[in-house]
Amino acid sequence: MDSHIIEALTKIVGPDRLEVAAEELQCYSYDGTAQEYLPEAVAFPTSTEQISRIMALATRHGLPVVPRGAGSGMTGGSLPVAGGLVLALAGMNRILEIDQDNQLAIVEPGVITGNLRETLAPLGLYYPPDPASLKFCTLGGNVAECAGGPSAVKYGVTRDYVLGLEVVLADGRILTTGTQTRKGVVGYDLTRLFIGSEGTLGIITKIILRLTGLPTARRTFLLLFDDMSRAAGLVAHMLREHTPSTLEYLDHTALSLVADQLPCRLPETTRAMLLVEVDGDPQSVALQASRLDDFLDQHPEILARFQAENAEQVTDLWQARRAVSPAAFNLRPDKISEDVVVPRSKIPQLVACTEELSRRYGLPIFTFGHAGDGNIHVNIMLDREDGGEVERANRAKKELFREVIALHGTLSGEHGVGLTKAPFLDLELSETSLALQRQLKNLFDPLNILNPGKIF
Ligand SMILES: Cc1cc2nc3c(=O)[nH]c(=O)nc-3n(C[C@H](O)[C@H](O)[C@H](O)COP(=O)(O)OP(=O)(O)OC[C@H]3O[C@@H](n4cnc5c(N)ncnc54)[C@H](O)[C@@H]3O)c2cc1C
Repeated sequence: MDSHIIEALTKIVGPDRLEVAAEELQCYSYDGTAQEYLPEAVAFPTSTEQISRIMALATRHGLPVVPRGAGSGMTGGSLPVAGGLVLALAGMNRILEIDQDNQLAIVEPGVITGNLRETLAPLGLYYPPDPASLKFCTLGGNVAECAGGPSAVKYGVTRDYVLGLEVVLADGRILTTGTQTRKGVVGYDLTRLFIGSEGTLGIITKIILRLTGLPTARRTFLLLFDDMSRAAGLVAHMLREHTPSTLEYLDHTALSLVADQLPCRLPETTRAMLLVEVDGDPQSVALQASRLDDFLDQHPEILARFQAENAEQVTDLWQARRAVSPAAFNLRPDKISEDVVVPRSKIPQLVACTEELSRRYGLPIFTFGHAGDGNIHVNIMLDREDGGEVERANRAKKELFREVIALHGTLSGEHGVGLTKAPFLDLELSETSLALQRQLKNLFDPLNILNPGKIF
């Protein structure tokens, strides 16, 4: 990076807030994909005004700028593939306002998702989106990826809670979108355009979030099956009659990775598990749980079931669920993790397809995830040092994507396109759609300086 650009950046953010030392740059070169690209500099801005000046400078010099939250993305979104400047936004982490009467919060993008939820709880307020990374990911990253989590089956995903945004555009102009009201239809919905835009259209500097009342009670059930397709088959049926706040699925491999952390013993023939939760106020939870019990009584295909008796058992169940992803590395040193979605009724076909791919390509492939949304995490385990395995894994991934599209699904439910899914975009999007989206990108970022190399 030219020394005069470094000088100008230093003037904007101050000498302590710009890093060019190699060892510091390294810390901003990777994300959840295990790929690495070094930026040329990292800036730690503290205000919208500083970001606006940085973007105006970047436009003058054609400098690539990559916004970054916690760097926990799973598709390479925050990787500076074209070098340039990383805008590290985790320090802009103030909760600016909590409006209890109108149930909304205004936050800076670096607020950690879990911290907002913890701040809201004593006020009886709730921000539902709960990505498994909530203890470290940022709300800016959540908006940029439209993150979701287990509670999406009842509460929806990030996009359902964003009322408005403040965004710095590529040329430094500051745009506000949306409203602080529950309703609002004036003009095109630019807020939605930025949600899931992965840092390619603008830098999100403020977020207005809709909140709900905090659920004060919940009941958690564990259902065990001796056949995966039975578990998957029950999902669509259950959702026709019930509204659980969570409906998670683990196949037998995922289950075997965390079985010793569960608060109950599994029958030997267990091949799959559903984790079901209902929430609300104590009265409504009692009613929902009793209705669910009646429903489950009518399903002899459930091999065994268990209801958590206390908060400790609920915590154990969730810890086991969240431990699946890291425990996968006991199977192989590397994994390709895809977050495909199919219509819920097609989950059995998707699961059957992954089993077939695993057999055909001789690689462990296992599934778990948000069955209530049809959002299944497919994990292809491999050793990246082994060229044959890499090649087989990539072929399996492509076949998986084709099958997902054939089942009327989508390639990503929550992790976005980033770098890793970019080559597959045309499997899902038509030429017309792609052309329009490229035009939109060009309208917002004619010099292609905002997170270049991502999505398209
Ligand atoms: C263990 C683990 C579990 C996970 N579980 C889930 C899950 O359950 N559900 C889920 O949805 N995801 C999950 N993820 C993925 C990841 O945590 C989410 O995508 C999260 O939203 C990323 O937030 P981040 O702050 O880390 O963003 P980063 O990874 O830093 O950035 C992600 C993208 O957002 C852009 N970006 C970041 N901040 C801004 C901003 N202020 N303005 C514009 N663009 C910005 C970046 O350029 C990049 O394209 C998981 C990841 C891990 C490692």
